[in-house]
Amino acid sequence: MSSIKVLPPDIAQRIAAGEVVQRPASVVKELIENSIDAGAREIRIEIKGGGREQICILDDGHGIPAEQVEVAFARHSTSKLTSVADLDHIQTLGFRGEALASIAAVSRLTLVTRARDETVGTALRLEGGQIVDRQPTGRPAGTAVTVNDLFYNVPARRKFLRTPRTERRHIDALTTRYAMAYPGLRFTLSHDGRITFQSTGSGDLQDVLVSVHGASAASQMLPVDASGDDQSDVQVSGYVSAPSLHRSNRTQITLFVNGRWVQDQSLTYAVTQAYHTLLMKGRYPIATLNVALPPQQVDVNVHPAKTEVRFHDGDQVFRAVQRAVRRTLVDQPPAPEAHTPSTWPGAWPTPQSATRRERLARLQPVGSSSRVEQIEISALTPSPIRAQDRPEPTSEQSDSQVPFLRVLGQMGLTYIVAEGPDGMYLIDQHAAHERVMYEKFMADKAAAQIASQALLEPTPVELTVEGMGLVEGNLEAIAALGFDLEPFGPNTVLVRRVPAMLAEDNLQKLLEEIVADLEVDQEPLASELEARLVRRVCKRAAIKAGQVLSQREMEEVIRQLEACASPQTCPHGRPTMILMSANQLAREFERR
Ligand code: ADP
Ligand code: MG
Repeated sequence: MSSIKVLPPDIAQRIAAGEVVQRPASVVKELIENSIDAGAREIRIEIKGGGREQICILDDGHGIPAEQVEVAFARHSTSKLTSVADLDHIQTLGFRGEALASIAAVSRLTLVTRARDETVGTALRLEGGQIVDRQPTGRPAGTAVTVNDLFYNVPARRKFLRTPRTERRHIDALTTRYAMAYPGLRFTLSHDGRITFQSTGSGDLQDVLVSVHGASAASQMLPVDASGDDQSDVQVSGYVSAPSLHRSNRTQITLFVNGRWVQDQSLTYAVTQAYHTLLMKGRYPIATLNVALPPQQVDVNVHPAKTEVRFHDGDQVFRAVQRAVRRTLVDQPPAPEAHTPSTWPGAWPTPQSATRRERLARLQPVGSSSRVEQIEISALTPSPIRAQDRPEPTSEQSDSQVPFLRVLGQMGLTYIVAEGPDGMYLIDQHAAHERVMYEKFMADKAAAQIASQALLEPTPVELTVEGMGLVEGNLEAIAALGFDLEPFGPNTVLVRRVPAMLAEDNLQKLLEEIVADLEVDQEPLASELEARLVRRVCKRAAIKAGQVLSQREMEEVIRQLEACASPQTCPHGRPTMILMSANQLAREFERR
């Protein structure tokens, strides 16, 4: 272990400069990296108040020798770099020598450390970067850094911090990523005195995946084998989800380059590309991958937070990742097909295979003139019609008028075909029912009568650690929908009650969607969050596209829609219906 020295200006100038401390999670990141670089086997992360109050990172690494404790806080002081040439083959996570100085400058910081080969440790206290106290002290070999009152002396920054809940989410995401990158290290994360995440340190990534994603998701993760047939010196290892397991965004794709967490759009794309044709549009895999390559072939000195890297041969790395993932996927026996909602479900013949007559048969109106048979489906293209013939909302009535409609039939298991005084209506059965459910829910809520239904037995649902954090942070908002959830271990919530309108539902999927709703970067207003959750529940409760509806069911939906205050749009603002007016039909048939 070399000693900590202030870098000479010629080296310091070569280092990507910039602010590292943006939020509590950036402090956690730098301190975790220091502990890893110090050879720690165990890292404890203790957070209070989402990190605004306190961040404490304890490790059992090699510690800092007593006479170097002060210089560690000087700008550009590091033990990890001695020459410009070293910058070309960095093996440690840190090298800029700025983190401790930057963090100390904006907090009240205490460092307690003992080097392995020294008998007495040192406690150093700083405020706003100034040393205010130094004491010899006893502690096991290793280091503890406690950061209190982050940004206490930078009010503008402090004001900018998000709620503890949001900051907590960032810290959770970061900690679990490092745990995945370093399965041989034992990470323990606690918030306000309660352990919320722990990895075993067994060295087996599969164990960490269980702690992060829960056992059932982890069981659908496939190992990516580093020792493939590649002669190239780029080695890809880790786990990727089987096609049966997917998410609505890319946030669960975690990439490391030589053990350094990176955010790299190109490599993320390489991963999703490998799933081409295996996942539906808009669905993304879960992946935890490490790309190992000789340090000379990657430049880590690009970005101050070190989350971006530059490869000497980016294409080679892209191909290696894509190939490794693809190989893992195609080597698998085909997984049972996950339910894939589709606008043209299987019961409906595919447009190419169905004869025009078959297609038109579906359009056949109940007890109506056979003239409709002549309409080509393509003539019903919604956009131009909608623009022309959607009833113009007048200022007073807004869009609240739906005339009395006579249901003619169902089309493509997706649309209700109906006749009104002014023409033919196509009603999106899902969007319309969503609207109905939404208004019913809001009315019940206004009357403080949200109906909730107890499950026969509490159902456990597994979530990611981040997801758990989000659910726990929003228990009240979720309860207001009619749920009764109880956190049950670090990865599981017990669902005791659900909103009555949901009756039966896939609770796992529902909670994952709720987590995704909570998982937005901007801190939403409470009212916006509430509206979003209500829309989610209504979406789940509503009739789906692809569902066969009886004549009576269709009539029921239409009656309820007629009673809605805003029947023309679903709660997300999409149209519930389009009108093909008698005039439009006449024009299409060149009757005038
Ligand atoms: P860098 O990590 O870029 O070298 P830092 O400011 O983060 O810069 O840390 C400065 C130095 O302090 C490190 O080079 C290392 O020698 C020492 N150090 C920091 N944290 C620890 C730790 N947890 N254990 C042992 N040494 C540490
Ligand atoms: Mg560092």
